[in-house]
Amino acid sequence: MTPTATAPAARTQAENLDQLASVAINVGLGLRSGQELVMTASVDTLPLARRITEQAYRAGASLVTTLLTDDESALLRYRHAPDASFDRAANWLYNGMAEAFKIGAARLAIAGGNPNLLSNEDPDKVGRANRAVSQAYRPALELITRHEINWTIVAGATPAWAAVMFPNDPPDEALARLWSAIFATSRINTPDPVSAWKSHDADLHKRSAILNEKRYSALQYRGPGIDFRLGLADDHEWLGGGTTAGNGNYCIPNMPTEEVFTTPHKDRADGTVTASKPLSHLGTMIEGIQVRFERGRIVEAHATRGQEVLEKLIDTDDGARRLGEVALVPHSSPIAQSGLVFFNTLFDENAASHIALGQSYSSCLINGDKLSPEELAARGANSSLIHVDWMIGSAELDIDGITATGTAEPLMRKGEWA
Ligand code: ZN
Ligand code: ZN
Repeated sequence: MTPTATAPAARTQAENLDQLASVAINVGLGLRSGQELVMTASVDTLPLARRITEQAYRAGASLVTTLLTDDESALLRYRHAPDASFDRAANWLYNGMAEAFKIGAARLAIAGGNPNLLSNEDPDKVGRANRAVSQAYRPALELITRHEINWTIVAGATPAWAAVMFPNDPPDEALARLWSAIFATSRINTPDPVSAWKSHDADLHKRSAILNEKRYSALQYRGPGIDFRLGLADDHEWLGGGTTAGNGNYCIPNMPTEEVFTTPHKDRADGTVTASKPLSHLGTMIEGIQVRFERGRIVEAHATRGQEVLEKLIDTDDGARRLGEVALVPHSSPIAQSGLVFFNTLFDENAASHIALGQSYSSCLINGDKLSPEELAARGANSSLIHVDWMIGSAELDIDGITATGTAEPLMRKGEWA
């Protein structure tokens, strides 16, 4: 069911939540009648999770299984668990998720945790726990990065997240402001959100088609603290908006999404890059990131806050020091225009051009889903346990596309498409 169109300004909070749930199931996830759904959500987003469950069953879901997480319980582990706990993950649970995906289940995540949850915890324990989860989640994540299944991520406001974004507002007001920012940037504040999403999706496809025709061999970045050249993988393919997953279902993996993205060459990144926004990574904040690349590899990494977490992150494995994604986002995107820093990658990566350390998406290579790991590596695709996006775009960033013959063409000027 698509809730009937109501003038956006006249909608109640409940109606907006229904619109978001409907768009998440019918446009973002593209849930097929008879399909199972595995959803992850925080207990603080239960009202949205329940509405999504309702929309899923109305769309014909055969079974919805929701795995709930709780920030306070996560902290209790850091307070009271023995040291050996931090090398453990619930492998049985992640194996079960992979199993569900293999038999055709779709995957939906509601993002909305406290961006600062683990900021005051021992970085060594945080790093070990993250590594254990990354390893346990690997089989399930592979089905997602190979785009075998339809999946999507939507956001739900939580009091802790709202407090980080609007620290000077009373809690109720902060939560209301965050919800309205989510509705605005997720295109729910339109008379007909489903058709707004369809035309936005068509725009992103048009933009990637133009870039695919150009077949640039590299991108050259210039901006504050940025002097950087990034080679693109051989046979790379730009993607944006929705795609048809291996299981035949069309989905738009992130809501909101404003990016067109592809796979860079893991051995061809040179120069200095400075982040334009803070990075909230699994409950810890890393600010003022500046790194230097040589032949694809980070050889120097600094952060004004969270240096130790950053170092642990890039030491995860060899691929964690190399790039797996490059994405272009114009500075005029609704998220950038909101002027807000969300401290949440789902939003902040769609407010600015970005790059990601770690695992690449094989769907960003021509016929990539059919290539073996060796063939992927030969084309320059990176492999790692991590995939962490960080923002480098701003209103001062210029990017040139470098053609196969070495000619530079203006691609973005002052953060906008040239
Ligand atoms: Zn991205
Ligand atoms: Zn990414």
